Amino acid sequence: MNGIYLDNSSTTKPCKEAIDAVNFALNECWGNPSSLHEFGFNAEQLVKSARQSVAEKIGASIDEIYFNSCGTEGDNTAIIGAALALKKRGNRIVTTSVEHPAVLETVKRLAEDGFDVVYIKPDKDGHISEKSVRDAVNEKTVLISMMLVNNETGAIFPVSSLKKIAKEKGSPALIHTDAVQAFGKLPINVKKLGVDMLTLSGHKIHAPKGIGALYISKDVHIKPFITGGGQEKGMRSGTESVPLIAGLGAAVNALPDINAQLKKAQELNDYTRKVLAENGFDSFNSPADALPYVLNVSVIGYRSETLLHFLENEGVYVSSGSACAKGKGSYVLNEMGLERARIDSALRISFSRFSEKSDADKLCEALLSATKKLRKANR
Ligand code: PLP
Repeated sequence: MNGIYLDNSSTTKPCKEAIDAVNFALNECWGNPSSLHEFGFNAEQLVKSARQSVAEKIGASIDEIYFNSCGTEGDNTAIIGAALALKKRGNRIVTTSVEHPAVLETVKRLAEDGFDVVYIKPDKDGHISEKSVRDAVNEKTVLISMMLVNNETGAIFPVSSLKKIAKEKGSPALIHTDAVQAFGKLPINVKKLGVDMLTLSGHKIHAPKGIGALYISKDVHIKPFITGGGQEKGMRSGTESVPLIAGLGAAVNALPDINAQLKKAQELNDYTRKVLAENGFDSFNSPADALPYVLNVSVIGYRSETLLHFLENEGVYVSSGSACAKGKGSYVLNEMGLERARIDSALRISFSRFSEKSDADKLCEALLSATKKLRKANR
């Protein structure tokens, strides 16, 4: 399929390196990593090398990386595992009201089982303040789960302050971050960030779908979510998906210098904002200091779904943010307190390292054409 693909927060095109690594593993290295013979050993070596690549990228050690199937599984494992491990020490879980459903639905289930879940709301710009975290955390808090980058607005959350706040409040909380949108785009060092657990997902960084990883600090112990044959040091039983793990490792190795790429993404974001604003599309819902790979904008007066359809006809692919629940629109923008008209007309543009300025031009042209056609049709 061709076209201007600006929906990279939903998923990314697998890179050649990842595809080659998957093919190699399927064709040449299909043993079971647990087998005590050469086939097993070779597969184990592939898994080990991918684990090393992921660990290095986030400043972790190799024995702190657990492969799994996706970001959703990582979030579930971290949250349920931590809550069960620490439930004797308290029952409060602090999170934000704008997490991905992989977190929100998981804490909701824990709330049904008696946990006291506190949801921090963002401000009108999409930021989460440290003060609101301080107000939410108490000595009974056993888990703080906060995403590093919001998937709809690109807002960066104050994850690096969480450990300090928990200490100040006398809380034994483990700190989890859903870094699915941040990994590979923002430099991450788990030690500097002060997190005990970090979720990442392959398909957001040009690896295949169906592969993710969870960092768990070796200083903490959480309960496994999937039990069985004891793979992944008992934390995630089930025969490892060697091809997908190799694909993730290759995609991680293929990541360019993150800071240099971030600078390029910022230039592209600034350019896109400028071109859109010059043409009257200036209701931006992403804060100015958001991760530049995400730009959320409202085209007030036009419904997101209608615009998506028109843009698709012009060969431009964006998203409306998140799947609209029964026409209610984005819960993230709603939590930010934005007006209805703005929520109903929101578009999320999300770039990858392969996006170009010409893509922003094409997007803007397509938006102008779409709004013109819609105005005509409504006359
Ligand atoms: N967390 C965030 C912030 C996401 O954006 C997503 C996917 O869009 C997920 C979790 C779920 O990841 P996966 O699709 O790998 O299950």
